[in-house]
Amino acid sequence: AKQLAELIWFNGKLIPWKEATVHVMSHAIHYGSSVFEGIRAYNTPDQGTCVFRLNEHNQRLFDSAKIYRMTIPFTLDEINQATIDTIAKNNLKSAYIRPIAFYGDIGMGLQVPFGQETEVTIAAFEWGAYLGEEALKNGVNAGISSWNRLAANTMPTGAKAGGNYLSSQLISMEARRHGYGEGIALDRNGYISEGAGENIFVIRNGVISTTPKTAAILPGITRDTVITLAKDLGYEIREENIPREAMYLADEILMCGTAAEVTPVSSVDGITVGKGGRGPITKEIQDMFFGLFNGTTEDKWNWLTPVYK
Ligand code: PMP
Repeated sequence: AKQLAELIWFNGKLIPWKEATVHVMSHAIHYGSSVFEGIRAYNTPDQGTCVFRLNEHNQRLFDSAKIYRMTIPFTLDEINQATIDTIAKNNLKSAYIRPIAFYGDIGMGLQVPFGQETEVTIAAFEWGAYLGEEALKNGVNAGISSWNRLAANTMPTGAKAGGNYLSSQLISMEARRHGYGEGIALDRNGYISEGAGENIFVIRNGVISTTPKTAAILPGITRDTVITLAKDLGYEIREENIPREAMYLADEILMCGTAAEVTPVSSVDGITVGKGGRGPITKEIQDMFFGLFNGTTEDKWNWLTPVYK
């Protein structure tokens, strides 16, 4: 892969990017048996480089592993420290961080030997706006996918597991093929689920709705951040089933995730959302979100962990 930073943390050691390789017979390649995280670190004016919601992300890594009965041979504290070290030793000011735990070269066959431990690696590198700077300002044109999100009793969407991203790839490939910037999936009951890599908020008459955790979503940490910030701004938040047409009739829609941050949705299936572009409530939430990193929003929630102390 293109080298994006100098070092990668691999099972406890920082090694050169190019040496961080796995065998072609690795279980995770054949069967999708990995769990991972996406985390961002921002360069803040007061505390320098800070990881955003570090512990919540790595806790979710351990939660995802627990669902799949995977044993990560490190503690949460060790992975938190390793995340910080990976940013620091690469001298990064801001970063996208990708911890992943996976089954390596453990022998052929689906069955994982009892007590098998995972490999763990952490990469960190500079990465700009996932859906583009332009989308952050003017919104993304989204399309509803013909692919449904995974049903609850098929594969758990609450785990951030490698295999789940085949679903996300189908959703985003179809969207791009149809000329959309991002795809949104319905759940198996036909309600809005989530984007290929983002949770969805729909705003009408000043009320903000988001899909409940039962709608086959990854319960995003940015989703939780947006809920917290919007409540702090005085908005009512409803977690409720959202039918497809509610997107067509919305005043504003936003999608959010660690990579996508807080991005307005300007149209759905070619139907303009509200006045198009970025709506005022979306702007308010976006300003408060980015304010955490540019110093204009007080971090009342202790979400920032400084990297260079
Ligand atoms: N849903 C999916 C499918 C995702 O991949 C992501 C990105 N991790 C999200 C939602 C948003 O989660 P988070 O805010 O924790 O990054």
